[in-house]
Amino acid sequence: MTAANSLNKIIYADNAATTRLDEDAANLMFELQKLFTNPSSAYKISIPLKKILRESREKIAACINAEPQEIYFTSGGTESDNWAIKAPVLANLSERPNIITSAVEHKAILNSCAAMKNLGCTVTKLPVDKFGAVNPDTLKKKILPQTKIISVMLANNEVGTIQPIKTLAEIAHAAGKIFHTDAVQAVGHIPLDVKNLGVDMLSASAHKFNGTKGIGFLYIRAGLKILPLIDGGAQEFSKRGGTENVPAVAAMALALEKNCRDMEKFSKKISAVAKILLENLRDNNINFILNGGENRLPGHLSLSFENCEGETLMHRLDLKNICVSTGSACNSNQIKISHVLKALKVPKNYIRGTVRITFGKENTLEDAEIIAANLIKILK
Ligand code: PLP
Repeated sequence: MTAANSLNKIIYADNAATTRLDEDAANLMFELQKLFTNPSSAYKISIPLKKILRESREKIAACINAEPQEIYFTSGGTESDNWAIKAPVLANLSERPNIITSAVEHKAILNSCAAMKNLGCTVTKLPVDKFGAVNPDTLKKKILPQTKIISVMLANNEVGTIQPIKTLAEIAHAAGKIFHTDAVQAVGHIPLDVKNLGVDMLSASAHKFNGTKGIGFLYIRAGLKILPLIDGGAQEFSKRGGTENVPAVAAMALALEKNCRDMEKFSKKISAVAKILLENLRDNNINFILNGGENRLPGHLSLSFENCEGETLMHRLDLKNICVSTGSACNSNQIKISHVLKALKVPKNYIRGTVRITFGKENTLEDAEIIAANLIKILK
């Protein structure tokens, strides 16, 4: 059996980690690989590649209500986040700049901030409430004259909490500051309108919305002056050098377009799947905490069970061909609890027993029933 065939036997419920590549997007990538010439070349066989890049930019922009020239292709969420954090800081390094972010960001943001701190910048981490949300009043109080960038994620990758981005962006702008949001978990999953949100920059990653790995984009509002992070050729309006991966860009645009077109349908379906899992656990008197409150991504469940280890739950589900993830990582036999669960102050006797189950558009009600049945068997 090939590795790809064995995938048919699993129940994949870790869509926050990555999603399955959309079949039409995969076929498109395969076809476009044949057009191997450099999209920057001047001869006529490269003209279709330029057109594909232009049309992909237009499609992506339309999905988030941006203008095509505001979409910059990158290698994914990590690069987009690095660019958004580092560029405003590096442009003002002599002023001992300040960055404001939240305590529950992805490592792509937190470690970009840490790298800037090593260069002499200060970092303010906003606390969150028990659901993982930032309080806008706290942001208001923390802004300093030397703050150069405020970055708060749109939706959390561990607990799914959706932040009050529009309000936070308004506060940032009232103080004359740049506002970025890491929307890697949200793009293609919930309706997004950059103009309505009022953000200056927004990060996205294709493999989180059924595109392929190693490609993403950064939305940069027209008029915002941001230094390049990757210096090189004149690609991406001379802001991000490197020969474009045309097949991956086209696949990203197609996958996003499809997800946005069917968003309401999938969102309802995924929420129903998640609801069945919760109901089955409750009907069987399983004691757990659902982290992240009401305002969460659809189908995103971070569940903490009392007095058990998330790692053990994850491995026992894996033995049954069920893929989920944990809220902790095992390093040299020591369990390292996630910074997100700590920031939410999940109770001590529950925090270690956290698993993240994130449903995607391919999941069925039966998947939820099977996962619940297996969890019940393990926990009883
Ligand atoms: N930001 C968030 C919120 C994420 O969940 C991830 C990936 O897990 C990233 C950034 C990094 O994205 P990528 O894997 O495309 O580098």
